[in-house]
Amino acid sequence: MTFEQRAELRRNFTASLPLWRHPLIGYLLSILLVGLFGWGQQALDGWIGGGGIYFAGSLLLLPVLFIATFWGTMPSLFTVLLGALYIDYFFIGYNQGISWQHWEDGLRILPFFISGITIAIITAQRERARWQTLIAEQELKEYAAELEVSNQKLEDANQTKDRFLSIASHELKTPITTIRGQAQLALRRLAKQDGEMNVSDMHTALERINEQTVRLTTLIEELLDVSSLRTGKTALNKRKLNINELCQQVVDDQKLLTGRHIELKLPPKEVMVSVDRDRIEQVLINLVGNAVKYSPEGSVVQICVERKWRKALIHVRDHGKGIAPDQLEKVFDTFYRTPDAEASTKKGLGLGLSISKEIIERHEGRIWCESQLGQGSEFFVELPLK
Ligand code: ADP
Repeated sequence: MTFEQRAELRRNFTASLPLWRHPLIGYLLSILLVGLFGWGQQALDGWIGGGGIYFAGSLLLLPVLFIATFWGTMPSLFTVLLGALYIDYFFIGYNQGISWQHWEDGLRILPFFISGITIAIITAQRERARWQTLIAEQELKEYAAELEVSNQKLEDANQTKDRFLSIASHELKTPITTIRGQAQLALRRLAKQDGEMNVSDMHTALERINEQTVRLTTLIEELLDVSSLRTGKTALNKRKLNINELCQQVVDDQKLLTGRHIELKLPPKEVMVSVDRDRIEQVLINLVGNAVKYSPEGSVVQICVERKWRKALIHVRDHGKGIAPDQLEKVFDTFYRTPDAEASTKKGLGLGLSISKEIIERHEGRIWCESQLGQGSEFFVELPLK
């Protein structure tokens, strides 16, 4: 426990005491009690011995005990001091003032003084024990809170895993059902036509089967990718690289592949990063591919590379429908597709962005999206500079 935490605990402890147990009340009361019991002692001595002093200060131990019990060590030490002065003034000095002329005077106070100090020491030990219990209790509370947080995280992870499994098995089942259906249909037709089947029917069935097999392979590859990235099984093969060159290459490839108008804006100087080239290329292809996929045919897709502080910043902007504010975070979740994408004819599994996020975070970078509905979306990737 740090010094600040202990001070905080002490403040809280003092604040939790009832007002009458505030140390200041203890100091004030000790003056009153020493006066009262000192006077009682004088009266007792007068009554018993007709002016002689018996049991000097024994009665004054009662205020020390009382103050120690309710107000603690420091006020009890103060009471011992006051009591000693009282004894010296009224009993040893016979009301003439503070004496201390002979060493015997000190000796007469000694029994009271030793008893008082013993009470104060016992009180201090008791306070220390109580204090240690309080600290242990506080630490226990902190551990319990930490445990609750990690428990919650585990529960969340478990839920994500369950969700992942249920969606993955559902996604795997869909193409298999189609493949099976097409194969059974072809077999039935073959049986009906005594082993002969219309070539065009056969062609359609095989095409559907092939399509679904491709979908299945992509899905399995992406699932394996998510899992190996998450479990850290895929080692990153980091190399020094000029991100401008990689962006140029991705844009050239995507232009050829999609025939879309893609603009690239690069800074005049090279932007060096230390990354796994294939993995970052995978992220860029996913972002540019999505921008192309989720925006109208004739619209432009813009990619821009910037050097910001000690980071390389890549933006991919499109002029599509955009993403609603409450979905901006979710698009990076495994299997998440916006209702808009689900309703459209655009195919997808909702895995690309979650894989991209995993890859970028393993490079100590950041990926996020900004969007305005009807205006398009802009995805940002930030990577540390080499
Ligand atoms: P998908 O295979 O569905 O494209 P991603 O993980 O790449 O999977 O994207 C997840 C979802 O995020 C998409 O289904 C889509 O709803 C949304 N999304 C991604 N990029 C864009 C974009 N540029 N414009 C609008 N929506 C997008």
